[in-house]
Amino acid sequence: MCPPAPTESSAPRENVSLAPFNTLALPGRAGRYARVTADGQLVAFVGDRRRFVLGGGSNLVLTGDFDGLVLHMAIPGRTLAGEDAEAWYARAGAGENWHDFVQWTLARGWPGLENLSLIPGTAGAAPIQNIGAYGLEVGERFHSLAAVDMRSGKTVDFDRAACRFGYRDSVFKREGWHLTGRFVVTGVTFRLPKRWQPVADYADLAGELAERGIARPDARQIADAVIAVRRRKLPDPARLPNAGSFFQNPRVDAGTASRLRTAFPDLPLYPQPDGRVKLAAGWLIERAGWKGRDLGPAGMYEKQALTLVNRGGATGVDVIALMRAVQRDVRARFGVDLTPEPVFL
Ligand code: NAP
Repeated sequence: MCPPAPTESSAPRENVSLAPFNTLALPGRAGRYARVTADGQLVAFVGDRRRFVLGGGSNLVLTGDFDGLVLHMAIPGRTLAGEDAEAWYARAGAGENWHDFVQWTLARGWPGLENLSLIPGTAGAAPIQNIGAYGLEVGERFHSLAAVDMRSGKTVDFDRAACRFGYRDSVFKREGWHLTGRFVVTGVTFRLPKRWQPVADYADLAGELAERGIARPDARQIADAVIAVRRRKLPDPARLPNAGSFFQNPRVDAGTASRLRTAFPDLPLYPQPDGRVKLAAGWLIERAGWKGRDLGPAGMYEKQALTLVNRGGATGVDVIALMRAVQRDVRARFGVDLTPEPVFL
């Protein structure tokens, strides 16, 4: 533990619109807003009580104005932090765009993150919810991260065990630190194995590779296939504002899964190592009648029912009304509770 070297602070601005900084394009203003481009700038904000750490704003529902301090993480940097016989260790500043960082590692010839191409957001946010896609979670490629403890101003390193990764979960979420801004992630190091194996079993990915006539894909080919599948299914926030998957995929006990399968024979079930069974939230939402359906200016996307979109002019109130309506109908039809994935501010 050591304090980061103090650097010139980016002075906070007052009453700043956050609409450009959230991918749902919801309105809301920050009482104070600072763009953080170097670790040392954080020291100036130790002791600030109401604070929110903003990355790419792709997992955020703004419910209105926020009267605290928003720290917008924009620390840059991509480096090879080390290499040994087993792996390359690639480091990203917390503000690096996640997709661009993944493409950079692939261009350098370091495979391992290809399945996570095109997930929106920043590198610093990736470990917080242990982002994952197409059978790979970032925790599997994670080495360590550096964070500033906003109580003491000291830099703390978290290794893989300390992050306590779970399904779209980590110690940062479990302890609520992502809401209170207790630890601000400044950089993340990934361990990219030299003995690489493709992960390409998911139906969408396997189908795309088969269509391209690729039987033994390399990492670049997997990335290209993932990008193609995602572009087809998921809306580009620049054209249709959204926050990616809006609900977590629920996990239920085996008895509940079996009862549901009896009532709904085509319900997809994914047994988990812990004995529970994962359900596809998108399937439940579609069968509850919400795929492509709107409530006011917000709706559930027509090509992917799990994505909530802002059709134009929606506010946080509209998003919450739609979220509750979808939750209510899924509960009524399946008896399953859907938990939203984004953070509400
Ligand atoms: P999809 O491929 O249509 O799959 C729907 C659901 O089925 C997901 O819950 C997925 O689990 C599960 N599933 C499918 N094939 C599976 C298999 N072979 N083994 C175990 N589970 C399987 O999902 P999608 O909505 O189009 O999204 C594509 C991928 O991007 C998914 O992996 C999704 O989780 C991921 N994604 C991640 C984030 C995030 O990290 N925040 C946001 C958006 C999408 P999983 O969800 O466990 O993969």
